[in-house]
Amino acid sequence: MTATLLDGKQIAEQIRSELTGEVAAFVDRCGIRPTLAAILVGDFAASEVYVRNKERACQRAGLDSRVHRLGSQTREEELLQLIEQLNQNPAVHGILVQLPLPGHIREARVLDAIDPRKDVDAFHPENVGLIAQGRPRYLPCTPHGISQLLARTGIKTRGKHAVIVGRSDIVGKPMALMLMNRDSTVGADGANATVTVCHTQTADLPAVTRSADLLIAAIGRPKFITADMVKPGAVVVDVGINRTESGLVGDVDFEAVKSIAGFLTPVPGGVGPLTVAMLLVNTLEAARRQAGRTD
Ligand code: NDP
Repeated sequence: MTATLLDGKQIAEQIRSELTGEVAAFVDRCGIRPTLAAILVGDFAASEVYVRNKERACQRAGLDSRVHRLGSQTREEELLQLIEQLNQNPAVHGILVQLPLPGHIREARVLDAIDPRKDVDAFHPENVGLIAQGRPRYLPCTPHGISQLLARTGIKTRGKHAVIVGRSDIVGKPMALMLMNRDSTVGADGANATVTVCHTQTADLPAVTRSADLLIAAIGRPKFITADMVKPGAVVVDVGINRTESGLVGDVDFEAVKSIAGFLTPVPGGVGPLTVAMLLVNTLEAARRQAGRTD
């Protein structure tokens, strides 16, 4: 068997093209151009690439974006002041702080300072709480993208056993909450899974992953998920982006797993493009909410 590839690039393109029309209609109706402010602190090479991609994607979809680049020696207080200015600025609808931050800055303090209504990454505790209660304001971009990818491919999660390897606040945990909820932004068929979350302390990980109908790998270790860890026919979503000497590699051993999985995302071209697309979707949603328009 050879897995069907889940083409994240193509689905992201579809979402972006729908969004471009929605942004134009919103601007016509309200005279407001949705605007994203991105903050980049320090000189992490990968972060610079991510922020540039997000900036370009905003422009293409008709959104405004402003990037605030701060030096690696920036004090936490300075960063908090900038966030407060952006919180107060009615022309800014979405704020994102690119992670990671330099070690001397407390990430939680910074993320907590973002106005939850402008928190388009959905990392603020208020937004996480709303997801946990099944009434999300925004969804974090990567799990949001995965949910779109599955729904638009016709893959239902209702009643399935979903195993997520990784319990980070930005991928694993919110993905688990979304899949276990009764409903989702893509309907009840895209929720209602039975969810298991794995991490470094999980006993007999391969036995757990082998029981997955849907296996989501968000680990940060190249080719960690091998063929013997996958149930034949399973849907395998590879979130990992690992920079190796042979280029970008996912958390799944793609060549080996493609002969056993039913569906599989490639890296690159899988989850990554969707993450950027969903940031745009969230920014438009933020502008709508701040304009008091949900139409
Ligand atoms: P984190 O480093 O925050 O979390 C990694 C998780 O994997 C932890 O929960 C950790 O367990 C678990 N883990 C690590 N090693 C093992 C192991 N040997 N066995 C079982 N579990 C393990 O990573 P992120 O969630 O931020 O990112 C994961 C990957 O996804 C990275 O490659 C990142 O670059 C990529 N990523 C891709 C995005 C995209 O758009 N495609 C977006 C965001 C991230 P424990 O908690 O016990 O330490």
